Amino acid sequence: MTIKAVRGVHDILPPEAPAWQRVEATARRVCEAYGYREIRLPIFERTELFARGIGEVTDIVQKEMYTFEDRTGESLTLRPEATASLLRAYIEHGLHVQPKPVRLYTLGPMFRYERPQAGRYRQFHQLNVEALGERHPAVDAEVIALLVELFRGLGLGERLTLQLNSLGDPPDRAAHREQLVAYLRANAARLCEECRERTERNPLRVLDCKRPECQPVLDAAPALADFLGREAAEHFGRVRGYLDAMGLAYVVNPRLVRGFDYYVRTTFELTTTELGAQNAVAGGGRYDGLVERLGGPADPGVGFAVGMERTVLLLGDTTPGTQPLALLIPLGDEAVRRLLPVAQAARARGLAVDVGYGERKLRGELERANKLGVAYAVIVGDTELGKGEAIVREMKTGAQRAVPLAELAAELSALGGRA
Ligand code: AMP
Repeated sequence: MTIKAVRGVHDILPPEAPAWQRVEATARRVCEAYGYREIRLPIFERTELFARGIGEVTDIVQKEMYTFEDRTGESLTLRPEATASLLRAYIEHGLHVQPKPVRLYTLGPMFRYERPQAGRYRQFHQLNVEALGERHPAVDAEVIALLVELFRGLGLGERLTLQLNSLGDPPDRAAHREQLVAYLRANAARLCEECRERTERNPLRVLDCKRPECQPVLDAAPALADFLGREAAEHFGRVRGYLDAMGLAYVVNPRLVRGFDYYVRTTFELTTTELGAQNAVAGGGRYDGLVERLGGPADPGVGFAVGMERTVLLLGDTTPGTQPLALLIPLGDEAVRRLLPVAQAARARGLAVDVGYGERKLRGELERANKLGVAYAVIVGDTELGKGEAIVREMKTGAQRAVPLAELAAELSALGGRA
């Protein structure tokens, strides 16, 4: 029996790679333009980091972590998200002494034991962007602007909606939570089983339920917006004001909550109607207090995560890969010796060329050139060697012409636009 990949994980095959490269390159370009610098983090950490960082009662920590003991019996976990690791590194390496906000981004795989479906995997990839050490609402607006710019840069801006909410400060949330729980308990009979269970464990998440039968109850639930304290309300107003000033469109969604305990004040998501149930392409918010909870200074933070798989899904196959420019076809070993250095010179200039081994018939090699999709075939047999020439054949038209062997590398550079 052959061995298959684990359920919920996926390979990114060569035809898909150009879209991934495009997303990654765009992410790096936009992050750097906003002054964010890359940090690369390990993919496993002490389990405790996530329990403390994400929150003990969240679905992620309770049900979705890949946790194992290493040989010394220490409990380790494959990271389900990057923020906790990033803050761990921020504290551990004293990055907080740098000018604030400290702007960081990171790209890489995350691991969650979720039920796999379209757009939902057990190993998936995220771009994480975090601004640390600054409380000002302009920073919330900055990371949101960066997020929007990234998707505009990918040509996806028009297909996404920016949803915005404020979760208030911890006392606001506590007051809201009390009334929400009382309300949900009183209406438990009209809620699904998961909502009833969440009412006791993580009541804010009940608002996230997508089941139609729960909507009437949830629509009339006490809204967090009515509980915002003066400071949180002012902060939210200023964030919206800055977004308006930048001309960034958003929808205030009072029921937007997120899967982590650590968010306060601003939260946001980029959503699409094109990916079925998995409608969130990116999400984030402010997490003042988290750095402190992880043993660091009282530095606030705000950031987001972009789901790379869902972004690539939205792009479709519109990203062309690079095609090799030419197949060099030597007919016989002497021709191989003449063409190998030509290929070497062309490749040193960044041109993609392939060379045959001199053992196949011309017809077979031309078929291979067709399959490879090269623009040119370069043929050198005994006759050409005798004349010190190569035949350059344009594959699309079949037009052929002779080029002196000594000028072949330069000719290929010209054809490939690298002269
Ligand atoms: P979160 O870290 O849960 O806030 O998720 C941020 C983004 O990561 C989401 O909006 C999704 O695009 C993506 N994401 C989260 N979980 C998964 C998953 N299991 N598979 C694929 N993408 C995911």
